[in-house]
Amino acid sequence: MGHYGCQHFGGCSVKLVIFDIDGTLTDTNDVDLECYFRALSDEFGANNSNHTVIEDDLVTDSGFAQATYAKIHGIHPPESVMSTLKARFMRYLQTAFSEDPRRFQEIPGASHLLARLMNNAAWGVAIATGCWLQSATFKLEQLRISFRPLPTATSDDAPRKSSIVSLTIQRALQHYAQQSFSKIVFVGDRHWDLKIAEATKLGFIGRGSDGTLALSGASCTVRDYLDPDSFMHLLETVSVPNSGSQPASKAHCA
Ligand SMILES: [Mg+2]
Repeated sequence: MGHYGCQHFGGCSVKLVIFDIDGTLTDTNDVDLECYFRALSDEFGANNSNHTVIEDDLVTDSGFAQATYAKIHGIHPPESVMSTLKARFMRYLQTAFSEDPRRFQEIPGASHLLARLMNNAAWGVAIATGCWLQSATFKLEQLRISFRPLPTATSDDAPRKSSIVSLTIQRALQHYAQQSFSKIVFVGDRHWDLKIAEATKLGFIGRGSDGTLALSGASCTVRDYLDPDSFMHLLETVSVPNSGSQPASKAHCA
């Protein structure tokens, strides 16, 4: 995996923050998983025993579906099968929203924070999600979280979350017309998000409220984004593992 830090002595100053979606910008993990597994069961005949155990990096909408299909049928799923699965999943997601929109919530302050970051020339903003683009768009639009025209990569681009993050960074470099970023911070809600940040040498801020991420080794977590000044401070101070280009200062995190 590449190292995306500033490689030009004193030559770059724009920093990048990458947000995951489910559990990070939106409180949608429960309804999303429910609709996803229902679609997987109805489309592939995948019952609970088929819920394949796979490496963390492949736990994305397309990665998990491909692995589940391969386990049942012994072959990689044809594109038509994935399209049908995705369409069924989207129907379930839309039905769930029309039946009970309260199951789709913004993580408090997310929309305001994104808007503030988009107006901050020192920081680029990007989206990297393990969900499909259609699902990502639906959730963010229903919650009126403005994310266009942010550089975005989803599970439609790659089945591996690490590849999705790498692609997001490449798109962000183009979008913000940079050769490199002086610092990159990933904001995610799962332990595998932390692992990707560590492996890719990105700073990491965990979004969660149950302490799970801290137990996984995240030094920096937030419950929500209701204090954007504090979040901006975290972005500036969170350390980037072994980058060699960051000051030794510790982030002011519990
Ligand atoms: Mg997530």
